[in-house]
Amino acid sequence: MPNHRLWRGNGYAPYWDEELETMPREKIKELQLKLLQETVELAYHNSDYYRTTFAAAGVSPENLHSLDDLKKFPFIDKKILRKRQEVVPPYGDLVCVPHDDLVYLSASSGSTGVPTASPFTWQDFEDWQDYEARLFWSSGLRPTDIYCHSLQFTLFVGGPDVVGAMKVGALSIWAGAIPSERLLDIFQKWKPTAIWTTPSYAWYLGETAQGQGVDPMRDLAVRRIFVAGEPGGSIPETRQRIEALWGAELYDYYGLSDIFGACAGMCEAKNGLHWAEDHILVEVLNPDTGEEVKEGERGELVITSLRKKARPLIRFRTGDIVSHTTEPCSCGRTHLRLHGIHGRVDDMLIIRGVNVFPSDIEKVVRQNEDLTGEYRLVVNEEKHLAVLTVEVEQAEGYNASADRLEHEVVSDIFKILGIKPRVKILPPNTLERATHKAKRVFDERK
Ligand SMILES: [Zn+2]
Repeated sequence: MPNHRLWRGNGYAPYWDEELETMPREKIKELQLKLLQETVELAYHNSDYYRTTFAAAGVSPENLHSLDDLKKFPFIDKKILRKRQEVVPPYGDLVCVPHDDLVYLSASSGSTGVPTASPFTWQDFEDWQDYEARLFWSSGLRPTDIYCHSLQFTLFVGGPDVVGAMKVGALSIWAGAIPSERLLDIFQKWKPTAIWTTPSYAWYLGETAQGQGVDPMRDLAVRRIFVAGEPGGSIPETRQRIEALWGAELYDYYGLSDIFGACAGMCEAKNGLHWAEDHILVEVLNPDTGEEVKEGERGELVITSLRKKARPLIRFRTGDIVSHTTEPCSCGRTHLRLHGIHGRVDDMLIIRGVNVFPSDIEKVVRQNEDLTGEYRLVVNEEKHLAVLTVEVEQAEGYNASADRLEHEVVSDIFKILGIKPRVKILPPNTLERATHKAKRVFDERK
């Protein structure tokens, strides 16, 4: 008999924390307000940055009587975090606890500049891992599983998420970012049933296995794949192709280097990514006006941490464009879900006045069986106008004319976006395959 707190004699309980996860929304809001007031107090009394900017905006903890009052408080963003860490080294003046209370530091990859540090107290770290365990449990990970963590550990906030899988009770392998041959060797010898990687890499790894004569579905035991870092996991066409390659269920996760390795993840219903709203308050806002957008509409994700003590984030603009819902989920969880992460504000291209996200093009490319699914977007300028070229590869064994295929792709993109890009059909395996996060947008404008 398993000796696990969630073992119920004939199977495991469906929720990691039933009371919290199925709490009526009114109760969630009450809890959020209490935690938000504590967080704002903490920030106001312990961070010079927060105190100064609150004063400049004419607000203080006394102004916070409802969740709506949060709208009066100023935003912060990545640039501010980076700037404050330069002005007040080493971690900036948003830190609210003494140095001796800090036990863990992650740093962002620095793809947009200088890496920024994200400090944790021990309680922050424990809260985080409980959050990860809750998400993993909701995606069906159980103590019977063997979990292989295939994300890099160095500085990266996704590394320690492996502790969340251990907390679930799954036997966890700390593989990290090792060469594909070694990883596939582990898959064959120790038979992990669940893995975590990026969608691009899951695809690449599956094809690499096939290239070695190993059929992931028949010869390997992986039946759950967690992915994050790219929009692919929430694009049904991409998800289905990776699932078919592995004979596995794919769950999209969303993480932020400044908060937690995963902040939201798909439950087994795979109908959006649940947040733990008792840890994070979510706003979805029009990036230009700062006004709240309606459920289902696209807007920028803005988050406020509700329990973090080392460096609370209040109204942090993530730069990620999402859409959300608070409709009840069939799994019984009541917490807010993201329908998807459509892309970064920075990745958005404006072509002839139309907002184009790479994920919109990916949808088209991945649903077409005559294409390999790989693609690249190249933007040039002609007569002062932006020109988008979509480079795709025809599938192995495709014999019909390239012109027909080109025409098909142009018209599929037109149906979704209302623009007609140039489409270039390339032979299979021309485009470079990604082993971490794929770079797919090449802006060649001067
Ligand atoms: Zn659900």
